[in-house]
Amino acid sequence: MNLQVCMPYEKCPFKCDMCIANGRSRYANAYETEKEQYLATLKKAVDSGLYDDYIITGDSEPTLNSHWVKDVLNVLQGQNTELQTRNYNLKGFNLKHLRTLNYSITDSKGYLKSWKFRKIDNNNRLVILLTKDFDFLTSKNFDNMGYNQITFKVLQETADLKTNEWIKENAMTNFDNIYQIIERYNGSETSIRIDTNCQDSHGRYEVFRSDGQFYENWETEKPIER
Ligand code: SF4
Repeated sequence: MNLQVCMPYEKCPFKCDMCIANGRSRYANAYETEKEQYLATLKKAVDSGLYDDYIITGDSEPTLNSHWVKDVLNVLQGQNTELQTRNYNLKGFNLKHLRTLNYSITDSKGYLKSWKFRKIDNNNRLVILLTKDFDFLTSKNFDNMGYNQITFKVLQETADLKTNEWIKENAMTNFDNIYQIIERYNGSETSIRIDTNCQDSHGRYEVFRSDGQFYENWETEKPIER
């Protein structure tokens, strides 16, 4: 099971049309009000051995709060940790304890630039959110852009109606080319997969929210009692 470590909410400047965080509830910021207790709770979770992996993520872009990222990475030292980000300029971040650096892109412009995003010595993953903008990709023209892991992600409905309308109009609908790309890379050093349904991950993760409590999933508003 993995633990999704969720950054304290900040207004996200990226304003992605398909943002999965749109419509989600906001939670208190215990990192700000009770930092020591918040970090100690996370450390206790790490020491419990309950989780195999840790995902640094959020209802906003995690790297907006570099102090939080630094403190959390410090607690997670030596663990199998992944940073999910849409910040393509990670200058100044100490990423040596990361196992996986995961960039999400939503359009062809991001794809063409992705070869030059900062990479780490461990796993570098590119997550391609399947908007219609990627309809041009074929097994002949696709390049892994220097990433050893690629995930094609089918867009998921959110808790927000407006976002869902956008998704309806702009999501890729025919995945034949994507499956052919996966086929082409089969057996190569680049691991490529398609993620068709995030909801299936039920029971495979928990969320550590900014209020310093643990939740069974992203939808539930009641913390786990332990
Ligand atoms: S970067 Fe993430 S949190 Fe920010 S708008 Fe985009 S999807 Fe939402």
